[in-house]
Amino acid sequence: MARYTGPVCRLCRREKMKLFLKGPKCDSMKCPIERRPYPPGDHGRDRMRQGSEYLAQLREKQKTRRIYGVLEKQFVNLYEEATRQDGITGENLLRMLELRLDNVAFRAGWGASRSQARQLVRHGHVLVNHKRVTIPSYRVRQGDVVTLAEASRQLIVIRHNVDTLDRQVPPWLEAGAEGFEVTVRILPLREHIDVPVREQLVIELYSK
Ligand code: SF4
Repeated sequence: MARYTGPVCRLCRREKMKLFLKGPKCDSMKCPIERRPYPPGDHGRDRMRQGSEYLAQLREKQKTRRIYGVLEKQFVNLYEEATRQDGITGENLLRMLELRLDNVAFRAGWGASRSQARQLVRHGHVLVNHKRVTIPSYRVRQGDVVTLAEASRQLIVIRHNVDTLDRQVPPWLEAGAEGFEVTVRILPLREHIDVPVREQLVIELYSK
């Protein structure tokens, strides 16, 4: 399954903000945004100027995609699905992104970053309703129970994450089994989704 494999800190620098793509490094002084808070490349500093409306919309779309680790094609498909649903398209889009299985594993605190959570899913450490699911984009539904496989709970990386991240699950999830299980209590509302994106700009970009 396709995914971005290039340097991720570059993505944050391009958006001129921390997107928290690398786990613990993001909260340390090693984060390149601390030292070079301007876009990458020879002309990075030149890109600090204010841009057009289109540029703002484009950057917001790229930022959203990058936070969730979704490639363009998949993102466009999600947007089109969001337009067909009832309600506010931007919220529908964010809700679908939040309901991805890799994001749920991240929210549960099993992965330090969404990409690490994605790897846990790919390697078969995550179960949905007691069945192994290895598709990171799998969309969980209300009432689904997502569990970390029994045999995976003692993995050093998972023990370390569970002990050190101390991540609070969002209100739409309910934690159980000493943090190794989460239940989708309700579908996430906009106020439950703490990603710093202006989804309206993304919708404006695609609806041109
Ligand atoms: Fe982004 Fe984290 Fe890299 Fe900092 S360390 S630039 S927040 S991915």
